[in-house]
Amino acid sequence: MKVTRNSIETMAGQSEWFTGAVYVDSVAAPSGPSRLSASSVHFTPGACTAWHTHPNGQTIWVTEGVGLCQRRGGHIEVIRPGDRVFFEPGEEHWHGAAPNRFMTHLAMLDVDDEGKSATWGDHISDEEYAAAPPIAD
Ligand code: MN
Repeated sequence: MKVTRNSIETMAGQSEWFTGAVYVDSVAAPSGPSRLSASSVHFTPGACTAWHTHPNGQTIWVTEGVGLCQRRGGHIEVIRPGDRVFFEPGEEHWHGAAPNRFMTHLAMLDVDDEGKSATWGDHISDEEYAAAPPIAD
């Protein structure tokens, strides 16, 4: 058993991987045979990931706010607390906050044999982000 106190610094999301201000708290890190990587990711309004894939897929579970997600070729989905999204291995996608709302999700995945969690691509363009449906209703 290992207790890790609330002592790990919140990290700013790297600008190569995100648009806007994003903050990441580490929840679980691969250790020994466990490949589980989990993070609590806090997106400020309008912030989002770049297009990316995960070698073994990813589950996100929204805990706060209102968010958006999209797979390549699909429509942008509005996601809210309690919503869970699974992205298939290799499925190109992005996730982030709605334009005028914060969004926090727990992100969970298994890293690959080399410890890699994601492969990153282009940032989301203004046109791509603007295709989000209105979040009211
Ligand atoms: Mn992802």
